[in-house]
Amino acid sequence: MTESRDVILQLRDLKTYFALRQGVFQRVTGFVKAVDGINLDIYRGEVLGLVGESGCGKTTLGKSILQLIRPTAGEITYHGADGTDGAVDMCCLSDAEMVAYRKKLQIVFQDPHSSLNPAFTIFGSLQDPLKKYGVKSKKERRKIIGDLLEAVNLQRDYMDRYPHEFSGGQRQRIGIARALSVEPELIVCDEAVSALDVSIQAQVLQLLMDLKKKRNLTYIFITHDLSVTEYICDRIAVMYLGRIVELAHTEDLYEHRLHPYTQALLSSIPVADLDRKTKRIVLEGDVPSPINPPSGCPFHPRCRFAKDICSTEVPALRKVVTGGKEHHVSCHLVDDTVTAA
Ligand code: SF4
Repeated sequence: MTESRDVILQLRDLKTYFALRQGVFQRVTGFVKAVDGINLDIYRGEVLGLVGESGCGKTTLGKSILQLIRPTAGEITYHGADGTDGAVDMCCLSDAEMVAYRKKLQIVFQDPHSSLNPAFTIFGSLQDPLKKYGVKSKKERRKIIGDLLEAVNLQRDYMDRYPHEFSGGQRQRIGIARALSVEPELIVCDEAVSALDVSIQAQVLQLLMDLKKKRNLTYIFITHDLSVTEYICDRIAVMYLGRIVELAHTEDLYEHRLHPYTQALLSSIPVADLDRKTKRIVLEGDVPSPINPPSGCPFHPRCRFAKDICSTEVPALRKVVTGGKEHHVSCHLVDDTVTAA
């Protein structure tokens, strides 16, 4: 996390807990630790994959970054392009102060059907953010929305149709157009292609990559589908029970999977190339509850390499080097000095 690149977002000890309440007086009886102490730098222009099983906290982390869910503790520092906007800890901003930053950070949701209001035409849905950010003339809004629809390979006149008139892939393109309408710098793609057929997935992924190049976008790509991350992500962060357990450049992660959880996750991807086929590692047991996570390494009850120390001491996310690049891993069995060529 100390590479000398242009950082757009810096996360420091980020925590998002949800209170559990019970009884007539709704007393707090515990917390769901959905995001539990994340430290991460996100570089301008990169595609960062966030992967892990359902319930690992990746969607909560994405929403916390956008302040759609307010974090419980920690910092999310946004660095403006060319230093023009300085550095701002968004966790300290009020809702009113956040308005200017919401423009820079947008999201594309998994389900394009439920993220578009069925009662509104596409123009009706897409004009709201434009109005909010000061495009007063309706003629101007129609022009911008027409341009956006063309940018996502749809026809301009589709803006007068309703969401039910489109296929899943077209609706996801409209979701992308809406995210682009305020000219963001970073987009969180939350399982953005998971609900689509495989052939349509490929088209939408290609569109996302083309738009990234043309508009110098940064993506946080949240997915449980590891077969797509290899092809579009520059780096991948593997999450388990609200924490990052491994973070590396994509190639290095696939070549030098150091954390036992990553090894199990990646072994489950279907591979056509027999040379790359690895033995499937089946994890024992269920994901522990984030209300009462295991002591020490949270993965220890399911880890085939667990030692005594694993149940008592939390392993730090340490920097090692693989393939000549920075690689971070949180496991007692990976030595600080590991250097895989
Ligand atoms: Fe397994 Fe121990 Fe490493 Fe955790 S710290 S992943 S339990 S070996």
